[in-house]
Amino acid sequence: MVNDRKVAIVGCGFVGSSSAFALMQSGLFSEMVLIDVDRARAEGEALDIAHGVPFANPCKIYAGDYADAADAAIIVVTAGAAQKPGETRLDLVNKNVGIFKSIIPQIRESGFEGVLLVVSNPVDVLTYAAIKMSGLPEGKVIGSGTVLDTARLKYMLGEHLEVDPRDVHAYIMGEHGDSEFAAWSSAMVAGVPLNTFCEMHGHHDHKATEARIAEEVKNSAYEIIAKKHATYYGIAMSVRRICTAIMHDEDTVLPVSSLMVGEYGLNDIAISMPTIVGRGGVVCRVPVSLSDDEMAELKESASALKAIIDQVDF
Ligand code: NAD
Repeated sequence: MVNDRKVAIVGCGFVGSSSAFALMQSGLFSEMVLIDVDRARAEGEALDIAHGVPFANPCKIYAGDYADAADAAIIVVTAGAAQKPGETRLDLVNKNVGIFKSIIPQIRESGFEGVLLVVSNPVDVLTYAAIKMSGLPEGKVIGSGTVLDTARLKYMLGEHLEVDPRDVHAYIMGEHGDSEFAAWSSAMVAGVPLNTFCEMHGHHDHKATEARIAEEVKNSAYEIIAKKHATYYGIAMSVRRICTAIMHDEDTVLPVSSLMVGEYGLNDIAISMPTIVGRGGVVCRVPVSLSDDEMAELKESASALKAIIDQVDF
């Protein structure tokens, strides 16, 4: 049985607590379970966030365990060691796969039947691990993937072009990490091809600007971590957006990470491509046209992930 008004969050550090705070304000759920190996931390966050409920929407928020999460509609997993300054997301792999080996089997044993949303890094590898360990249908296991990177891209393009970022349609695809790439060939602002829109605003040096913005997007996490030691607000809003798409059965296109089954010639890896997301999780991938260069970048990103997956003992 799935309780459509219940969410659980595993890992109540910066990302888990910010996501809980964003979800409390969303009104999507009336019950929220917070789980952490540090039980006191989960209890403290539950109390603190609950004290904001009178200003938002009724929601019962409490620290619990996996039995409490068994009937949740969504479990968001943010547990794990965080990226340290100078450390790549892929450096984290063995540490966090080990943590997943203690978490995912407990979710499986609880009989959970909802959607599992993986946020911990490296998110593509851990999404793949969760697909293998959870026993859930593969479409019900989603990684936050490049949803955050795509938000950063839209924000930066919105600033550059003086337009609402919500009117920018452009995606970061591939690994959430160093091998990700911006799919410029399909980028549009309100149906106008990006380069045409740029020309209208007096921006003509497309290649240099694209390279600069893609680099800034890729380095955002490193810059924020160097300055404040963690990133959490942007990802919390991304979690809220993905949960909204699921709970409202929106069939929204989001670049979540999910298992590839032959799309773009990719198999047996989780990676981010524009995907229709609805009540059951992944509905289908959208076959976005890629230029030859972008296709090469996608293959490179997939190979980088595959090389890691092949080294990990799931
Ligand atoms: P954090 O150290 O603040 O919090 C991690 C929490 O996980 C801690 O409270 C810890 O007690 C808990 N935890 C550890 N092992 C656990 C276990 N076995 N069971 C339950 N809880 C456990 O870290 P953070 O800044 O919140 O980051 C969490 C993760 O999110 C990291 O892997 C980070 O890289 C990732 N992250 C992902 C994105 C993204 O876009 N996907 C963005 C930001 C951060």
